[in-house]
Amino acid sequence: MRKMLGEKIMEKETERWRKRRKYLLAYYTFRKYFPTPLLSFLRRYRTRKKWREEYPDVKVKENLWPDGTSSAFVLTHDVESLSGVKMIDKIVKLEKDLGFRSSFNFVPERYPVPQGLIDDLKSEGFEVGVHGLKHDGLLFLSRIVFERRMEKIRKYKEKWGAVGFRSPSTIRNPEWIKEIPFLYDSSFPDWDPLEPIPGGCMSIYPFMLGNVVELPITLMQDHHLFIYLGRKDNEPWKRKFEWIRERGGMSLLIVHPDYMNEERLGLYRDFLEYVKEYKDVWHALPRKIAEWMIGKESTLKI
Ligand SMILES: [Zn+2]
Repeated sequence: MRKMLGEKIMEKETERWRKRRKYLLAYYTFRKYFPTPLLSFLRRYRTRKKWREEYPDVKVKENLWPDGTSSAFVLTHDVESLSGVKMIDKIVKLEKDLGFRSSFNFVPERYPVPQGLIDDLKSEGFEVGVHGLKHDGLLFLSRIVFERRMEKIRKYKEKWGAVGFRSPSTIRNPEWIKEIPFLYDSSFPDWDPLEPIPGGCMSIYPFMLGNVVELPITLMQDHHLFIYLGRKDNEPWKRKFEWIRERGGMSLLIVHPDYMNEERLGLYRDFLEYVKEYKDVWHALPRKIAEWMIGKESTLKI
């Protein structure tokens, strides 16, 4: 079931990539000439039409997770700029207080990433991943650009001891992502109409993309919740978490330290306290989930 679903969906994803490639290239080349509010307006307008596409309600019968746990819960952060770097301490403290750990994905060539910060995070039990190279939307521009950049990305991966990758703005070419030199990728939303490539892999379960474990982003990004939708609450996180838990899937969240303020930190804390009450949920670093899934490769390969 999952295999068939995955094959169908990834064909769709590849098709989406083909259709949007030229549009994205134009967008990222010229967007500096357009005011951000106009771009946000256009994106919101397009979104309304897109919400109506169908979302499959798939429940996998076998239990995927270890030790009798019912579902998985993963926290990730994409650090977009220096202001994000400055917020890391607060997020680390909040998560540690509640007994959580997460991964922080850094952009190697957009702002300085001190090696001391990487080492500190890892020694506190957090994980570090690579978030593209420059975050300029052009990683998949052409085969030559992709290969050159991936070679550099590989060096940062080794320097930081990372095993995970997330493509900036979830721009993704499914065929090329299969080749990245990482244990796992986390660049496909299960379903997200608000991203530059709207749509997603439609799976709340991890699966194999070539030799790479794909960990879909299954909870709404903080940016979309707080900024695009202007919400002052975290109900969409709680409701989707419940829905995924009932289906034995994986809840995976992106919170950007860059967009955090006291109010949003409070909502994030409240959500973590809520999740903590569920003793049957396996909270793990993405690296751990990917290692666990490798052992189950035969049933998940697409
Ligand atoms: Zn990003």
